[in-house]
Amino acid sequence: MTQVTVRAPAKINLHLGVGGLRPDGKHALATVYQAVGLYDDVTVVEADSWAVGLTEPVDGVPLGEDNIAVRAGRALTAHHGLDRAARITIAKGIPVMGGMAGGSADAAATLLALDRLWDLQTSDDDLLRIAGTLGSDVPFALLGGTALGTGHGEVVTPVPDASSVWWVVVLSDEGLSTPAVYAHFDELSPDVPAEPPVPDALVEALGTGYTDEIGDLLANDLWPAARDLRPDLVDVEVQLRSMAPDGVLLSGSGPTLLVLHEDVEEARTTVAELTALGMRCTLAPGPVAGAHVVTYA
Ligand code: ATP
Repeated sequence: MTQVTVRAPAKINLHLGVGGLRPDGKHALATVYQAVGLYDDVTVVEADSWAVGLTEPVDGVPLGEDNIAVRAGRALTAHHGLDRAARITIAKGIPVMGGMAGGSADAAATLLALDRLWDLQTSDDDLLRIAGTLGSDVPFALLGGTALGTGHGEVVTPVPDASSVWWVVVLSDEGLSTPAVYAHFDELSPDVPAEPPVPDALVEALGTGYTDEIGDLLANDLWPAARDLRPDLVDVEVQLRSMAPDGVLLSGSGPTLLVLHEDVEEARTTVAELTALGMRCTLAPGPVAGAHVVTYA
């Protein structure tokens, strides 16, 4: 085998509960992740040295050692004590700096692609553990579906999810820095509990699959901080709430906003209405699978 392509999904957080800053500088989280149908495709081929490229230029994606896909490749070879390298090519379908964990998806895809390219037979536990060292959202990108995230988000436990929904994904022309949103959250909320509570009611609602109940229980602790940093998002939010009072959500640290629909035709109507208002949006189903091989050659 000379080339492997792995597809990895974007994530949203149906609930994002943020706790105190831990001694390691990360925030304790209690989150419910859902993988949604926007994808990056990552292709790997053996090479003399590490390299990363994009199929099409995309602003904000580093093309060197800073790219999280290269860090993932190096972490996997270090785990196996290998002196090998690869050229990594990324086709980006996930918005950059959109709060949908596109970089994390690329890291997860790279781990899986290199494991298969070199037939390393890394155990799932080891892949998840290596993923957790790369970033809080990387283990979930391997898992997909719907899952509870605890620790700093890297401890993932699948959640039974009987729902099948369509998200209208409202994109923003400008990204929002995740560290900046967390820093402002700390200023706004100095007295949060060390461990945020697990959202049991949402977990239960997902088990029943009732979209209305799920819509009522969507929550994101980072929203006030994101609104402060990007006041322009408030107008968009007001517009979205006038169309779907209970199904509007900020994706992760933003600035992407989401509108929940059970019915795909209604979701398409919302996309058409928002597009007519000059907004850039797309549709994504959820939940979808985690990182998976799409091509071996
Ligand atoms: P988060 O996971 O924090 O919610 P995000 O979805 O908002 O992140 P990403 O698109 O993952 O944002 O990018 C976050 C940062 O990671 C950017 O500043 C970008 O420069 C850097 N980065 C490193 N590697 C990648 C990659 N492969 N794709 C996108 N961004 C990358």
